[in-house]
Amino acid sequence: MADKGTDKFPLLGERVRVRGDFNVQNLVRENVKRLKPYSSARDEYLSDGSVMVFLDANENPFDNGVNRYPDPHQRSVKHILAELKGVRESQILIGNGSDEVLDLLFRAFCEPKKDNVITTPPTYGMYKVLADINEIKVEEVLLTDNFQPDVENILNAVDDETKLIFICSPNNPTANSFEVGRVAKILQKFNGLVVIDEAYIDFSENESWISHLREYPNLVVTQTLSKAYGMAGIRMGTCYASKETIDVLKKIKPPYNVNELTQQRAKEGLLNQEQVKKQVKEILDQRELVREALLEINFVRVVFPSDANFLLARVDDAEKRYNELLQKGIVTRNRSKQPLCENTLRFTIGTAEENKTLINTLKELDHG
Ligand SMILES: *Cc1c(COP(=O)(O)O)cnc(C)c1O
Repeated sequence: MADKGTDKFPLLGERVRVRGDFNVQNLVRENVKRLKPYSSARDEYLSDGSVMVFLDANENPFDNGVNRYPDPHQRSVKHILAELKGVRESQILIGNGSDEVLDLLFRAFCEPKKDNVITTPPTYGMYKVLADINEIKVEEVLLTDNFQPDVENILNAVDDETKLIFICSPNNPTANSFEVGRVAKILQKFNGLVVIDEAYIDFSENESWISHLREYPNLVVTQTLSKAYGMAGIRMGTCYASKETIDVLKKIKPPYNVNELTQQRAKEGLLNQEQVKKQVKEILDQRELVREALLEINFVRVVFPSDANFLLARVDDAEKRYNELLQKGIVTRNRSKQPLCENTLRFTIGTAEENKTLINTLKELDHG
């Protein structure tokens, strides 16, 4: 596994060198360039703050909290995010989960049946699914044996039609973070967009790549409220990039893609940082308890280092152990079909009580 010490930011402290040879317009699909975006009722007037009579959108006039269309620009949510993340509001795109954000990236930049993207298995399954839906070829470049991106092979796989490289750090399902130097090299050498999926960044001590947006105009960072923020049910994902890249995505996003209830709950969650920190700490403490317990189980061979809210473990027979756990009412994820992940199970960290149930059940199976 990667030495924690190499995960420091070697670029900080040095003078920031901005990549000046990148223009996102060269990547945009022709039909997207030509497109005239839908202009919603609420786009056509500019509020000066005075009280208005809204007779423009064919809504029901009786107030019940959700009778009006939501803000298509999610201004009040972005206002909070901009402050929290240290970016401008114009550098943020919000989606119906990060899955929508990832899909928009394909639709904006990848020409079906012509362009390709690079992924680094074992990794998140949605990149491939979205590529297949959009008829985009996927070049898969396996991670190294210690689950790091193989920079040389990735750059060798790039051709004129490669538009996006997906980097998931901390990575799902391997749980580790990628070394900063490796990711930086890809950002420096690749002439398309590098999408860094930071769904699990809140569980990691590493700094978000958002702080490097100024250096790398080809950097796109995605995050989500589905994991550390505890709001998978509201479906809200975020994307941070240069204003130029965000403008392209805004042009093609469905106008009302983030509903009113989601915007309201997101604001509450984002403003309650104390609770997020408290829950993350609890989950990390529990993760270490589960790790220690797993290491005591005879049929557990390896517990991989984790920077996320789950543990990947290699067992004697993943299929058998998965089914035994299921019989006992515990649902885990068998990741064995992914390359480099033979006989692995992925355990999400639950509440203290849930984890105790898992551990007791594993012990029973171990002695039975
Ligand atoms: C869970 C997860 C997401 C979250 O997707 P949402 O659509 O925002 O819920 C994104 N990327 C990875 C790698 C994940 O594991």
